[in-house]
Amino acid sequence: MSHNRTETKDRFPLLRKILKAIGLPDEAIDDIVERILDWLSTKDQPASPAEFPFKLRDDFLSNAEISFCQVLRGVVGDRAVLCPKVNLGDLFFVATGDHRKNRALANRVDRKHVDFLLCEPKTMRPVLGIELDDKSHDRSDRQARDQLVEAVFHAARLPLVRFAVKSAYAPAEMESQVMPHFQSQLSAATLPNGPALPISPPSDSTPACPKCGSKMILRTAKSGPNAGGQFWGCSNFPRCRSVLPLEPDQARK
Ligand SMILES: [Zn+2]
Repeated sequence: MSHNRTETKDRFPLLRKILKAIGLPDEAIDDIVERILDWLSTKDQPASPAEFPFKLRDDFLSNAEISFCQVLRGVVGDRAVLCPKVNLGDLFFVATGDHRKNRALANRVDRKHVDFLLCEPKTMRPVLGIELDDKSHDRSDRQARDQLVEAVFHAARLPLVRFAVKSAYAPAEMESQVMPHFQSQLSAATLPNGPALPISPPSDSTPACPKCGSKMILRTAKSGPNAGGQFWGCSNFPRCRSVLPLEPDQARK
């Protein structure tokens, strides 16, 4: 459901004043008012196909992205699964221990996506992000977006490579930039929780997750060879699946 700007502009003048007073830009205020209007209007109306005038976009991928995609698929073959346009919110999560900070940081990557993601075929574990840089990457707003995306990948330790848009790509060059990431990933995957990280020494208190730093929670294995046994699992499960063994003196009944 969409509301035209005039309608949006006239609604909730007091709320608008308050949002303005706390320093929100007009665009953000319009967005909030539109969300409220959408929410109110869907409450008392039955959903019918006429209210969902969605159409399939013809520009899901640009021609440049399609031709790059075809060469890349030829290069990786069965060794990787190629996902185009992956939302960063589906790929990363924020773990600061502070909900407001988490939300603010998550909002910064909301509605941003990476052009391509290569995953390990068996587990679909993300291995490599790929950005296809066209002329728009010279614009300053695009550069700020690129820097943010790069910082997120770097922080989460997921490699990201960039290719410039060309009329033709050399498969051998693409192979040399992409496939080494899969080889290094194989050796890292042999470790139970990925690359080794410093683990804080065990204490009486709850340990921190070695991957994301969040608190661990004492859990009981429901199945498998250790069924009934206790272990530490990350409180961000399932987004973070880190586990730690329970020291014998930490067992609780
Ligand atoms: Zn964790």
